[in-house]
Amino acid sequence: MVGILALQGDVAEHRRALRDCGIEPREVRTAAELEAVDGLVLPGGESTTLLKLIDRYELRDPLVKRIQGGMAVLATCAGAIILATRVSDGETPLGVLDITVTRNAYGTQRDSFEADLDVAGVGRVRAAFIRAPVFEATGEGVEVLATWDGHPVVVRSGAILGLAFHPEITGTPVLHRYFLDSVLDTTGRGGA
Ligand code: GLN
Repeated sequence: MVGILALQGDVAEHRRALRDCGIEPREVRTAAELEAVDGLVLPGGESTTLLKLIDRYELRDPLVKRIQGGMAVLATCAGAIILATRVSDGETPLGVLDITVTRNAYGTQRDSFEADLDVAGVGRVRAAFIRAPVFEATGEGVEVLATWDGHPVVVRSGAILGLAFHPEITGTPVLHRYFLDSVLDTTGRGGA
């Protein structure tokens, strides 16, 4: 069972992408709902708002525990920012993905752009960067699967797949497919 953290952000777009992969995801807003899923999508949106809501819904500890316990996570844009160990500004992140992040590093909403990326093990991916962060540095054990303009934009650390962009609004959901086939399946918790 795959869940989508449904507190804020582009939940509907991820639901559609997963449905396109033949998966009916469950919305996650409580610790009990989190317990019931094998993998979780953290959507993009606004990382400060997401972290405030995570604390308000008392999800911080349960999320950290599940992620440190090996739950598969697809974290996109703000979803990846909230997992980082070091972030330029904003609320305290969860600190489970060893990356250093500068928020809004490409400028404002009007500086948003699309790019074609070559992602290792996946192939060509059309990516939408929307008020995107820059992953400045990655720690040991964090694999870089794609870069853009000299910076990592797709990283993998164990069962965490972190993206600096939105994969759910452009083209076919190849990164969702990769997440389901190559990340979720390797956690040993079974498929979707
Ligand atoms: N700028 C947002 C933040 O810092 C992220 C934007 C996004 O998720 N598209 O949280």
